[in-house]
Amino acid sequence: MDELLNYLNMQTKAIPIGGGDINQAYRVTDGKNNYFLKYHPQMSADFFQAEVDGLAELGNAVRVPEVYQHGSYADAAYLLMEWIEPGEGNQQDLAHELGKLHEIKAIKFGYKRNNFMGLLPQINTPSDNWWDFYLTNRLEVQIEIANGRNHWTARREKNYQLFKEWIYQKWGTMSFEPTLLHGDFWSGNTFFDTQGRPVFVDPAVSYGHREMDIAMSQLFGGFRHEFIDSYQEIMPMREGWQDRLAIYQLYYLLVHLNIFGETYGDAVDRVLALGGK
Ligand code: ADP
Repeated sequence: MDELLNYLNMQTKAIPIGGGDINQAYRVTDGKNNYFLKYHPQMSADFFQAEVDGLAELGNAVRVPEVYQHGSYADAAYLLMEWIEPGEGNQQDLAHELGKLHEIKAIKFGYKRNNFMGLLPQINTPSDNWWDFYLTNRLEVQIEIANGRNHWTARREKNYQLFKEWIYQKWGTMSFEPTLLHGDFWSGNTFFDTQGRPVFVDPAVSYGHREMDIAMSQLFGGFRHEFIDSYQEIMPMREGWQDRLAIYQLYYLLVHLNIFGETYGDAVDRVLALGGK
């Protein structure tokens, strides 16, 4: 780490920042300015290239930190960016900014490149059909990983097949517009700058159904109810959105099952059980 700081011309003091659960994050200084440095000892430079691409995509609509340098150094990947001093803000402004992101549309679901969800792969092969895209590129990619990590049982597979049928039956005729998503919109990935402007960090972007960001925001808490109320005022969601949240939360729960293990098994099973109803 000291060598990396030296290489980046930073003074050797790096202050660790909590909050993320994937990388080591630090506030560093070159003696004049502060910077935000992310560092991962086992990932390739492409890992942060994906984040840089995602930030650039979001930066067309909302405030993101400016990226200064990224690459690999002595087998570790790093990303050096603007330090944004955290401040206070309100949930209405946050909803408004997320709405700006969700106004950016594409022709197909997916994205120009694959990226990462945490440390796991996120596959973005373009598709015209949202449900095909979601089931194949989101749920089934994680299910395959779960299988390889012994988290996928015959019972889960059976319930998943029922769940899939249920989705096509109940929601299959509903089509949605491909919309720019933050992709990992939990409360740790957004904060306010000192002017109260919402900042978006650590995305896993793709073009998908905007209810995915809403579903993630509601999964682990941290957003106040004014957030959803304001979002609904700005960009009303289609009928049935509350019933669809669990469908999208399943993606994030599978990711957690794969990273943290069976602690998330019951929550996964509860969503899969929707298919049997
Ligand atoms: P990880 O990839 O490990 O999850 P994050 O990018 O989410 O790391 O960053 C961890 C925490 O650091 C965030 O929750 C946020 O509070 C803070 N943070 C992220 N980017 C910046 C930045 N540019 N300036 C200041 N703080 C930041």
